[in-house]
Formats: sequence, structure tokens, C-alpha cells
Amino acid sequence: MLDKKNFYINGHWVKPKSSKLINIINPATEENVAVISLGEKEDVDLAVSAAKKAFETWAFSSKKQRVELIEKVYENYIKRWDEIAIAIRMEMGAPKDFASKSQVSSGATHIKSFIKHLKNFNFEKPLGEHAPNQRLIYESKGICALITPWNWPMNQVCLKVIPALASGCTMVLKPSELAPLSSIILAEIIHEVKFPNGVFNLVNGDGATTGNALTSHPDINMISFTGSTRAGALISQNAAKDFKRISLELGGKGANIIFKDADSEAIERGAFRCFKNSGQSCNAPTRMLVEKSIYKEAIERLKKYTNEFKVGDPEKAGDHIGPVISEAQFNKIQKLIQKGIDQGANLIAGGLGKPKGLEKGYYVKPTVFADVSNDMVIAKTEIFGPVLSVIPFETEEQAIQIANDTPYGLTNYIQTQDPEKIKRLVRKLRSGMVEVNGAGIADDAPFGGFKHSGIGREAGTYGLEEFLEVKAVGGWN
Ligand code: NAD
Repeated sequence: MLDKKNFYINGHWVKPKSSKLINIINPATEENVAVISLGEKEDVDLAVSAAKKAFETWAFSSKKQRVELIEKVYENYIKRWDEIAIAIRMEMGAPKDFASKSQVSSGATHIKSFIKHLKNFNFEKPLGEHAPNQRLIYESKGICALITPWNWPMNQVCLKVIPALASGCTMVLKPSELAPLSSIILAEIIHEVKFPNGVFNLVNGDGATTGNALTSHPDINMISFTGSTRAGALISQNAAKDFKRISLELGGKGANIIFKDADSEAIERGAFRCFKNSGQSCNAPTRMLVEKSIYKEAIERLKKYTNEFKVGDPEKAGDHIGPVISEAQFNKIQKLIQKGIDQGANLIAGGLGKPKGLEKGYYVKPTVFADVSNDMVIAKTEIFGPVLSVIPFETEEQAIQIANDTPYGLTNYIQTQDPEKIKRLVRKLRSGMVEVNGAGIADDAPFGGFKHSGIGREAGTYGLEEFLEVKAVGGWN
């Protein structure tokens, strides 16, 4: 079992003040693979105070210095690629190939992209030609609390740590207590690269103790959080007390609207996008809205596709999905599947229990419910498992109404060959992102949601600006 009890504070790996421990469980084997410490107020205080001290100089570091250091982070990240993939496989059960090709690579892509956007970012610019003595200066927001979930660990951590470093902020990272191992490797990389002491700090722990101590700390100026809507609301309350800046990336319940003229792969592609990463993606298209005239055919195709969909051991190579993160998450998904059955949705594939031959580990059967109505619990709740709800519709207006009838607004999807219909729908869907005919959102496009899906945007220039305050100066010569 790996001993990962120490925290990274002020440029050193230090023994925690707290003696409370958390076991890290491999969801594929249900075995303890590592132990971390649960940081308490005293640990958080030390980390925040180191970040506060470091801010005095790091805030005024040059763009050149920051680019050079982040470039070294990128080089070392690439060198430790396989190690990070193994950590992600162990901590959250991502299968070998997926862990390497999608999970680790997403972190690398964001580091590279932020280097490019930092190089191009103008931290000082005129307000406009009409006002020659007016200047805009972009300055770092200050001392940041970065709190991340377990489902895309390096993706989410790099979306916060790298732009915070790039913008001259200092920070305390608290990764998910379920999947902290990849973040510990990133902290080692940052240590090797030799950022000034205190610029980056890592304290492990849970939400109720460590997360709460961090987000209520009076010296924290900015909170960047990815996770559940529930925790996002609690964090916002802490932030409101002293006007901390917040950026929240929360849940989703995306609609995938499939019209009768959709391309020939739209149905299977939609199911794949829902099941990918064992359904544990905030932007998963979990409600498939299908036009009535192709509904019957869609159901038959989904049944076949889902029954053949592979679930298996993360240690094995291949394109299968692995288990879900934890026993608690497994049980939550089972309860929701039961709720779907109880409320009269038509279970056409998968269902309760574990897939054949996978009794150990938190494996869930890829599941499809047909004839779902949008007021059923399975259509309203973010299940965060490989469970798809299929809802029929007759008109474009009805499809838009169903798609928008959710408190969430992260990503919606459209499948049609009609360019005019695409333009109409894109504007009417209330979500931060819309993906059309299988085209994804670019890695540096603004990632974030409307409504209960969050506040703010991550990635690219938008992600960098989240960590910057703009200062207006009059009388500049
Ligand atoms: P979670 O909210 O339980 O935990 C996320 C992180 O917040 C963890 O580090 C946890 O320790 C911490 N936390 C929990 N309660 C806290 C509190 N009161 N104060 C401070 N910190 C607290 O979420 P999860 O179960 O780990 O992640 C899954 C959720 O994340 C899903 O709802 C998913 O949609 C969402 N998510 C959103 C995005 C996005 O970009 N929009 C991306 C990934 C995941």
C-alpha cells in the first residue's frame, strides 16, 4: 500500500498536523491501494499562509519566467505519462488505454494550450483608440483554493493549477479524496521544476473538513471548484461572506436531440458518449431525445449496441469501460435504476446488478431506458453512471422544450443534416456548450455551464481570465 500521508507546503513535503487518515480504494479490486491524510484547519492554515507569503513576489513575476516554468512542467508531465496513467487507473478505475489516451492526455493538452495562450496574452492593453490615456491591466486574483473531483482527475486539476500559475496566483490544491494519487505526482513535478516556495501547495482531505476550512479561510481570494451542484452551493455560501471570487463547474443532464435526418452513426455515437468513462462525465448526453418517426428503429439499435458494449478489468488493454468510482456511487446508481423501473420506464438493456463475471469491483451494467418522460427521476437526476434515458418527441419546439426543462445547462447535442435547423436550435438551447453532429468542443474553447451547471469558464484564454482581475487606469502615458 502506498504511503502518501505528507502534504506539499511551502516547497516541502511535510508531515500533517492531523493524524486522521483516508484509505484510497481501487474500485476494480475493492482493495486499499494507498493512504492519505485528512487535512484539518491547522494544515490548511499553514498552506494558505505559505501561499500568502509567496504571492508578494509571484504576483509580480514576469510572463517569461512563468512560461519557462510551465514549459518544464509540460516536459516532466510527458516523462511521467505512464506513471500518471497507472495512478489514475488505480484511483478511479479508468481502463489502461483510456487512462493513457484520454485521461492523461487531457492534462497534457491543457498544459500545452495554456502555454500558448499565456504567451499570446496581453496583460496590459489600451481601452481603445477613442481613449489614448486609458489602460487596462490584468492582475492575478490572489490566493486561490482549487478543489477538484475524481472523474477526470488530471483534466480538472490542470484546468485550474496551470492557469493559476500562469496568471501569477498562488494556490492550495485539494484534489478529490477518492482520487488524489495523480495530483500527488503533479505536485512532485511542480516541486522538481522549482517554482518559488509557497506558490503551489497541496493539502489532501475531504470536503466537509478540508474543503470547508479552505473555502472559509479569510485569506483565500478566489475559489475554483469542480464537483457536485450540492457542494458548489455550500462553497458559494462560504465565498459570499467575504466576496471571494468563484468559478464553479458543476453537474449536467445533457440532451442529445436526434432528428430523423441524423447521420447513420448518431444513435450509437450518442450511447457511446453516455457510457464513456463509465458515465462519469458532467457533459455526458444522458437524455437521448429521438424524433418519433425513427424512434422504434433507434430503440432496436440501442438494445443491440448496449448488449454488446464491453465492461471489463482496467488492467486489460482495450476499449471497454471500467467500474464506477466507489461503493457509494454503485449503490446510488442501482437505486436510480430501480427508480426508473418503479416509475414505469421501459428497461431495454442492462439493469440492476453487476455484469456477468465481474462480481468483485464496482461494475455497473450499461443500461438503457426507453419511453422515459422528462419528469421521471432518471431524467431529472445526474446519475453519473452508464445509464441512458430515451425520450420520444414529435416537433422541434417540443424537443427544445424538453432539452431545456432541467435545472442544468452544461452541454446539449444536436444531430441533423439541416443547417437552418442547427442554427435555430443552437440559439435556443440554454447551455454553455452545444455539440453538433459529433463535432466536439475544442480543447481551448470556453468550458462551463448555464443555470445550475456553474459560473465561469475554464480552458484557453477564458480559463486564464478566470484567474485575473482587470484594473482600469486613467492618465496612462
Ligand atoms: P463532490 O462535490 O462531492 O466533490 C468534489 C470535490 O469537492 C472533492 O474534492 C470534495 O472533497 C470537495 N467537496 C465536497 N464537499 C465540499 C464542501 N462542502 N466544501 C468544499 N469542498 C467540498 O463531487 P464528486 O462526486 O467528487 O464529483 C462528481 C460531480 O462533479 C458531478 O456532479 C459532476 O457533474 C461534477 N463535475 C462537473 C464538471 C464540470 O466541469 N462541470 C466536471 C467534472 C465533474
